[in-house]
Amino acid sequence: MKLIHPKTLWRRFRAWQERPFHYKNHSQGTQHCANCGTTFNDNFCPRCGQAAGSGRVGWNTIRYGVMEMWNLESRSLLTTLWQLLLRPGHLIDDYLSGKRQTSYPPVKMLLMVAVGIDIIRNLLGIPPNGATSISEADVNSLLALYNQWAEQNQGWSYLIQGVFLIFPTWLFFRNSPRHRHHTLPEGFFLQAFMSSLMLLLDALGDFMDQWVGLLILVYIYFIYHRIFGFRLWGTLWRTALSLFFSIFTVFIIIVGIEVIYDCIR
Ligand SMILES: [Zn+2]
Repeated sequence: MKLIHPKTLWRRFRAWQERPFHYKNHSQGTQHCANCGTTFNDNFCPRCGQAAGSGRVGWNTIRYGVMEMWNLESRSLLTTLWQLLLRPGHLIDDYLSGKRQTSYPPVKMLLMVAVGIDIIRNLLGIPPNGATSISEADVNSLLALYNQWAEQNQGWSYLIQGVFLIFPTWLFFRNSPRHRHHTLPEGFFLQAFMSSLMLLLDALGDFMDQWVGLLILVYIYFIYHRIFGFRLWGTLWRTALSLFFSIFTVFIIIVGIEVIYDCIR
């Protein structure tokens, strides 16, 4: 067996990261759309979107129907999750800059991942991680209660943290070299992708314990580095400030609620 040099493998991996999909015209000759009657020369009908060569129902239709039901077609959930793990920055960057066809819809993905992981955890009987006990004196502290909840529901606490990352990310990264004029809607989709990734990594954390926290930070760094294009330090301090800002906002909100509650009680 001929071994491939690691450098060659790395180069191929990098090329795949840059451009995972190749779109070719598979149609042979002129096509006649069976749905709307348009004549065209490509993979899909430009008017109604039906695939070229769709005719009478056959075995392929069944195969496609089953794949579609499980979201296994071309821009499938699994393909997108795979990309999210191996080329997260590229995938999100592609999506933000208009390459929507490369990705499963991010908000739908977040929902599917959250529900999917909960179902799998229940089936496997995996208890929520980090079930620390709370001391009697702390029971009245909302912050302590939140911290306990967040430890037991890390996935969901990442989602909350993600929401509060939208604004600081916009604040610190809005005029970046690679992505001029970063907007809040872009930030929303960025966090939707990141939250799916966090949930996924957190689920992997069932098998790799405390390393997952470090892994998540590394991922966040590389995603921000890829999308916004600041150098090492530029990315590091902006990411650190954004994370701090996000955690601090949640802290302030909880303490604020507690103070107001204490006042009216
Ligand atoms: Zn058509």
